[in-house]
Amino acid sequence: METVACNLCGYTSFRPVYQVKDTNYGQAGTFSLVTCERCGLVYLNPRPTTQEIGNYYPADQYHPFRALQKTQAIKPSDMQQKRADKISQLVNNHEKRPILDVGCGSGLFLLAMEQRGWEVFGVEPSDHASNFARTTLNLPVLTGDIFAAQPGTTFDVITFWDVLEHTHSPRAVLQEAHRLLNPNGLLAINVPNWASWERKIFRDKWIAIDAPRHLYHFSPSTLSQLLQSCGFSVMEMRSQTPVMNPASNLLRALGALARSAKHTKNKGQSTSQRATPTISPSPIKRWFIRATDIILSIPNLIANAVGQGGSITVYARKSDK
Ligand SMILES: [Zn+2]
Repeated sequence: METVACNLCGYTSFRPVYQVKDTNYGQAGTFSLVTCERCGLVYLNPRPTTQEIGNYYPADQYHPFRALQKTQAIKPSDMQQKRADKISQLVNNHEKRPILDVGCGSGLFLLAMEQRGWEVFGVEPSDHASNFARTTLNLPVLTGDIFAAQPGTTFDVITFWDVLEHTHSPRAVLQEAHRLLNPNGLLAINVPNWASWERKIFRDKWIAIDAPRHLYHFSPSTLSQLLQSCGFSVMEMRSQTPVMNPASNLLRALGALARSAKHTKNKGQSTSQRATPTISPSPIKRWFIRATDIILSIPNLIANAVGQGGSITVYARKSDK
């Protein structure tokens, strides 16, 4: 474990926010989320080092990879298709233009981009996922982080879908992205939104806490400041609520209540606190997700409009420093 200074402003004073456990995969340990006393960035401190962090990504269970094993038809999700359309609209004449997806997982977003005529590249730290992208999808994916990207190659677009919060230094990663982008290149990012209503309601039980894999939690404000200080100008920043998240948060809260009732009844017997994320939802869960989405549709519209949706999506341009 290591103790670090704020990655946004360099300040070393912080105050505690939540004490959290690995509620997604049930690995041992209690972790501290803190907030910088100067700029408000939220981060895990102390945290596993770069050598230790791999222990917290169980390859056989970590859900992006497990999902893949259970997927019958290997194709990009609706979300990946929408993102691919959006980027293709933002870049004129994108035929054969180079795009790098950082933390590309099994490569399905890159597959969507390739189908739209882009020249695609990926980097992915997981051996299992990067190997799948190379061998099954035949994509040029290297095993590693952004610093493993092919030397000498530059890109018109670099994307980070649910990746930046996992990195040990978002600043170093964004500076490297800046270096690898061509002039006026496009950067696209999605991260969980610390300023969301879900986080405010579910607090330390919020599904996107995901300790100790999520080392940083951004709000629209801290993310904008970081992008600006790394040489990017924000073109568009939106918050939105992923369909499954409110339902998953509610189910988890109900599960915790049921466990605590059972625990009180059977005092002294240990009960598992672990809530393994469900990848292929049961029909009941699918119904619950749909019902929650319909019930929350208007509140979500309002939350998204005021920057309190569950995630933040940003499109930014490389600016001249
Ligand atoms: Zn700070």
